[in-house]
Amino acid sequence: MDAIAAAQALSEIGYLLRQNEKERFRAKAFSAAAWSIAMQRPDLESLQRTESLTQIEGVGEGIARVLSDFVQTGQSRYLNRLREEMQQPARDDESELDFNDYQGDVHSHTNWSDGRATMLEMAQGAQALGYSYLGVTDHSPRITVVHGLNAERLVAQSREMAEVQKQVESVTLLQGIEVDILEDGGLDLPDAVLEILDVVIASPHVKLRQEAAAMTERMLRAASHPHVDVIGHPTGRRPGSREGASYDFEAVFKEAAKHGIALELDCDPARMDLSPEMARLAYECGCNFVVDADAHAPAEFAYVPMALWMARRAGIEKERILNFRPLDELTMATQ
Ligand SMILES: [Zn+2]
Ligand SMILES: [Zn+2]
Repeated sequence: MDAIAAAQALSEIGYLLRQNEKERFRAKAFSAAAWSIAMQRPDLESLQRTESLTQIEGVGEGIARVLSDFVQTGQSRYLNRLREEMQQPARDDESELDFNDYQGDVHSHTNWSDGRATMLEMAQGAQALGYSYLGVTDHSPRITVVHGLNAERLVAQSREMAEVQKQVESVTLLQGIEVDILEDGGLDLPDAVLEILDVVIASPHVKLRQEAAAMTERMLRAASHPHVDVIGHPTGRRPGSREGASYDFEAVFKEAAKHGIALELDCDPARMDLSPEMARLAYECGCNFVVDADAHAPAEFAYVPMALWMARRAGIEKERILNFRPLDELTMATQ
């Protein structure tokens, strides 16, 4: 039994529970257990044999029972029941994705904005996972509370990146930005700045409850911008706590597909944006994807292996996910 498969089952349970306000504590417990397993990759079969699954950090009696069922049968009756209840039963057109083929994360934060670790610590975290690249994408100036980066600070950051790069030779650092999509669909940094960065993730953070027609215009503009590589967490929702933006998803996804702009599956359990249903719609619209942790600390890189279930259930094969490509085929970094 692969620890990552178990982490994905617990993560999906956490996600489904999170849709119900009353289950939010249980949801968090499942997500936390999934995270712990994705990070530590314990030998589940031997823990199961000795009835000591509760030795895993974050795994109490209840979660141990679910885990035990999964380890023994490769299935979780609890997950299957939740899927039925939420009308999301298993489908026969899900894809196969192996985290061992994942090449690198392109959305991460450092203490240049709201990350809790230095660039070196993040780069070393990526290196420990065997990633071949890491996109460092701190926030743009509009997010003043997190000290977003303007052109001047990006230049200073690039100097630090050159120094850090010397210390983590196996990981290629990509300098990027998570640029805010403004209310009118413009971006929070001038084109001349965006143009020189390796990775540009355009994300909606504020005014998510804009009226749908205006929100559609806003997102269409971002999804056709020549310097944007990725639309970050495209709805901005936080399941169970904040409803996301509502707009003509199909029109925006088609626009992104037309311009070769990828959509992000943000694996942070508090976000899990898109959703299996919306990811499937985007897939059918012809979009490419990136699957990112949106990590604010090295331990959060483990959000990716635990959340890959969403891409699987959406039927997205690895050819459509840019993170499964080696650096020289990562088109965003060379555009
Ligand atoms: Zn963001
Ligand atoms: Zn982010």
